[in-house]
Amino acid sequence: MFIVGITGGIGSGKSAVSDFLMTQGVTIVDADVVAREVVMPGTPALEKILQHFGKDVINSTDNTLNRATLRKIVFNDNDSRKWLEELLHPVIREEIVQQLANATSPYAVLTSPLLLETDQHLLTQHIVVVDTTETQQIQRTMSRDRNDEKQVRAIISTQMPRDQKLERADTVINNQGSLEDLGKQCILLHEKLLSLAEEKSNG
Ligand code: ADP
Repeated sequence: MFIVGITGGIGSGKSAVSDFLMTQGVTIVDADVVAREVVMPGTPALEKILQHFGKDVINSTDNTLNRATLRKIVFNDNDSRKWLEELLHPVIREEIVQQLANATSPYAVLTSPLLLETDQHLLTQHIVVVDTTETQQIQRTMSRDRNDEKQVRAIISTQMPRDQKLERADTVINNQGSLEDLGKQCILLHEKLLSLAEEKSNG
């Protein structure tokens, strides 16, 4: 299976590109979605989190993870953060591998904001970086999530700088223009990835 990684900073347009490819029947595995799935009620990971941190980190109404409480704990305590990362990292990776293995399209996509920051990129054979200016990232994220500028800047500062991401790209999608312009680039991207997948399957 030809596996394509799609990455870019927050608000760069990763989801917009992935959503387009999904409409073309491409299997999309979204690392953010997987990260939520592996801690849903009834999962072994959530049970371990409960054992470790106690019931304050579980919402009593529906037994889901209380992310805000957990975030506060790990923000203030490096050992807790390390413990949580060591628990979740392999579980998330295994689930990503599983979902990619079940893909039914000519190529499959792994979309992840941390593709290049983690070892997730090792699962992919072609890296697409969706790129915009920081100003656009902030504006678009603020209108999507109702975060304030400070929060968005804080998230951007934890992500790999834009120029370093671009250096690692096999294909760059320039998302500084309109959504219509992005759509046109997506059509070309899909054609390119289909032919790369075919080349690969022909050896
Ligand atoms: P990411 O998944 O990288 O965080 P999204 O794909 O969610 O980013 O894009 C962030 C927001 O900006 C979304 O609301 C999206 O609809 C919007 N957006 C993306 N690309 C454009 C564009 N070229 N012009 C205007 N809005 C855009």
